[in-house]
Amino acid sequence: MGLVAAPALVGCVNPGRRWPDGEPFSLGVASGSPSADGFVLWTRLAPVPLSADPAAPGGMTGPAVPVAYEIAADPAMRQIERRGTAVAEPAFAYSVHAEIAGLAPGRPYWYRFTSGDAASRVGRAMTLPAPGGGVDRLRLAVASCANYEQGYFAAYRHMADEAPDLAVFLGDYIYEYVDKRSGATVRRHSDGVETATLPTYRNRYAQYRLDPDLQRLHAEVPALVTWDDHEVQNDYADRWSQTFDDPTRFLQRRAAAYQAYYEHMPLRPSRSLPAGPTMRLYDRFSFGPLAELTLLDGRQYRSRQACYRKPDKGGGHLENDATCAERRDPARTMLGRAQEDWLYDGLAASRARWNVIAQDVMMARLIQRGADGMLGQWTDSWGGYPANRDRLLRHIRDTRVANPVVLSGDIHSYWANDLKQNFDDPRGATVATEFIATSISALPPPYDAFVELLPLNPHVRYFESRLRGYMTVDIAAKRMTTRFRAISDPKDPKAPISTLKSFVVEDGRPGAAPA
Ligand code: FE
Ligand code: CA
Repeated sequence: MGLVAAPALVGCVNPGRRWPDGEPFSLGVASGSPSADGFVLWTRLAPVPLSADPAAPGGMTGPAVPVAYEIAADPAMRQIERRGTAVAEPAFAYSVHAEIAGLAPGRPYWYRFTSGDAASRVGRAMTLPAPGGGVDRLRLAVASCANYEQGYFAAYRHMADEAPDLAVFLGDYIYEYVDKRSGATVRRHSDGVETATLPTYRNRYAQYRLDPDLQRLHAEVPALVTWDDHEVQNDYADRWSQTFDDPTRFLQRRAAAYQAYYEHMPLRPSRSLPAGPTMRLYDRFSFGPLAELTLLDGRQYRSRQACYRKPDKGGGHLENDATCAERRDPARTMLGRAQEDWLYDGLAASRARWNVIAQDVMMARLIQRGADGMLGQWTDSWGGYPANRDRLLRHIRDTRVANPVVLSGDIHSYWANDLKQNFDDPRGATVATEFIATSISALPPPYDAFVELLPLNPHVRYFESRLRGYMTVDIAAKRMTTRFRAISDPKDPKAPISTLKSFVVEDGRPGAAPA
């Protein structure tokens, strides 16, 4: 990480502050949550990024620290458009979330932070187009499931190389557990413990952000983020842990996890400041007449997994109508009432040609075969919440949402799926298209076993689990092109990239077609 001289500002903020213990911008910078006139700029002061002292997160103690920022029209930071000061609060691990407004719409900006004699690297930010204003194209790079222990982040490096407009993170950005299996891992979570407290979640995020590929991606590409389960605990649902923890105690853990997530993401304090165990994450972003992107939160408000009380494990498992009538209960929810209403209001109001819904887990029905041969559906994905899925797809159909496309993660494999109002009728109308990105590095589900399921799931147009990577989504007026990008080997930090498969969705014609 280069130390860049920052001549103009060093004099006005914290003139005497020196950083003898280490580089304060060790975790890099990020931008995100763009609006038509601004964005959030993020950093976190951490001269000792993996500090084991819970009273000194990142090696920091003492009162709030002012941090100066500069925003420029050019990457060389010559044409400065804005200077300001944000505050790194001790209560939020000395993270900075500077909400910027009043800038010009539809263009890139560059920025850096300074504090005393230290300066951050330069990052890129963007503003959304003005309402009614236009962009002809939008390029997203979409990631999920980055298990630090199970692979290097070469996929993140290639995402940065592609210089998309935005990087979209669909969850499992960290993994809370420690993989004890020998041979499954290439590197270790630094503290060797499952994250459960604020200091351990903080250090987990810090360790991930020390990865040079992820750090560079965040500096160079603005981010949109939502979470899945591993940001808290595998397969949790609202206040329910897979380990049957007391819900009150589990909510304390969730509060720590959500706070650490907030502290490390370019989220707006005005929208997402955590309050105890709750945090507003769902949001939408408009790209003028071309596209609207909705980010959903599939964890915080969901009903507990149906028929959860197996002898030894909560969370997801296979169920069918004979073993579990509860799965079909229309009162069960994936999104929670408030988020679901907000989603429908937004979709109904959208005038965009492409309406992208980015969220954590697989939406298409997937009939699976258990070890005993029983056919069932996995209760942790939308298959455990079929009434909510039916409502959503019916709403999309009935309100004639233009070109609905769902982007999902979680399942560590590539999928292209037709979303049906009635999955029992494979010839029936396709309501929307789903693309699922494989994992950045997390280990896959068994390929052969899943291939055997495909005849049971004719709405699946493509499946591949043997490769790690991400997907790019190029949106233009007449078509959307999705490329499944694959690295050669997650055990190789320098792994090259290639395109495994490409699909197009034509304007007005839901369903994935091979490109
Ligand atoms: Fe995952
Ligand atoms: Ca997951």
